Amino acid sequence: MASAVSTPVYLDYHATTPVDPRVFEVMQPWLAGGVSGLFGNPSSMHGFGERARQAVEQARVQVAALVGVDPQEVIFTSGATESINLAIKGMLLPRGGGRPTGRLVTSAVEHRATLDPVKRLARQGVDVVCLEVNRLGYVELLHLVNALTPETRLVSLLLANNEIGTIAPAEAISDVCRSRGIPLHWDACQAPGHVPWESPAWGGDLVSLSAHKIYGPQGIGALIVRKREPSLRLTPLIEGGGHEQHLRSGTVPVALAVGFGAAAELARLEGPAESQRLRMWRDWLWTELCGHLKNSRPADRQPLHVMSAEPPDWLCRNGDPERALPGNLNFSVAGVDGDRLLTSMVDIAVSSGAACSSTNPEPSHVLRAIGRSEALAKASLRMGLGRFTTMGQLEFAAITLTRVIRQLRGQ
Ligand code: PLP
Repeated sequence: MASAVSTPVYLDYHATTPVDPRVFEVMQPWLAGGVSGLFGNPSSMHGFGERARQAVEQARVQVAALVGVDPQEVIFTSGATESINLAIKGMLLPRGGGRPTGRLVTSAVEHRATLDPVKRLARQGVDVVCLEVNRLGYVELLHLVNALTPETRLVSLLLANNEIGTIAPAEAISDVCRSRGIPLHWDACQAPGHVPWESPAWGGDLVSLSAHKIYGPQGIGALIVRKREPSLRLTPLIEGGGHEQHLRSGTVPVALAVGFGAAAELARLEGPAESQRLRMWRDWLWTELCGHLKNSRPADRQPLHVMSAEPPDWLCRNGDPERALPGNLNFSVAGVDGDRLLTSMVDIAVSSGAACSSTNPEPSHVLRAIGRSEALAKASLRMGLGRFTTMGQLEFAAITLTRVIRQLRGQ
């Protein structure tokens, strides 16, 4: 029953996911090393080190299996932000020092973990092409093709958008890059378990992952570096003991790696069924909201010029309703003040954009890029359903959202 739900209800699974209890269980002995005796530096030659090394290597196998690559292609990092920085700067910065050169192609709807390093590289002289997207959030293939030149060193794109959930046409993009011999990096941290893997690592040469987006611990991620001809030569950003094939020095945190491995295995085994349930429940929630808030439109596939009219009582979906992350529901609420909408969400933990941008009063750059007006972009909610979401929570969310939106509209 909706009334029995404890609040606030967490519906922000794109920002982070709670650690799955089964993940915590396998991490626990490594966190309590003084009690369990399970601790060690994976680089040490004695028995403690050997056990730690085995645990890290098992985790590497589990993460590799999640995206269908060889374990030797998995480089552990502190999270997706570091992986993305390593992929982008690692490909553009010359190994011997000096100014970066060449072209880098990315898009306007990327996460800040991509946009910020890209801006820095642009200031240093890299020829950056930031592709626009269409109103569903896709880079047009022709625009990508036209942006590629012999000087292009890397294409870096989101596989699944963390705000509007749009899933990139991975195969087509990968085919284009491969046919030109240009390395492709996917920021894939929202994707595991939810984007079917037609091809290993979705055809990317570099793939950034994060444990805390898949019910693992915060503070660990991976950069997948595919073996290919010619092989990729990345410049490491952190140097020290030569760990992780000299690409990321520093002791691998064993407990976190073990947790990441367990989370990856659960995502691989349970992801497809979980996705199906989340998609069904997300669609239920949207239909419910549209039913309660009159003149709303269940799936926004109107041309942009029609939308720009912005009737005062619209509720419009952002992203592609037919090809989005299953737990993602992002919509704009016309006729209400954006700041008041967000501050009214006391019983439901949702966001208006990426969590890392929530201190920024600017409207979401993703929503602006798909053509939403400033006012509509501000009056938007990103809801993320996840593994521990219940139907009772969604009933509560539907009732609460309907009440709040009606109140703000003075209905
Ligand atoms: N890329 C995307 C699409 C994200 O959603 C996030 C997390 O918010 C990141 C990168 C950064 O990940 P991390 O928190 O692991 O550094």
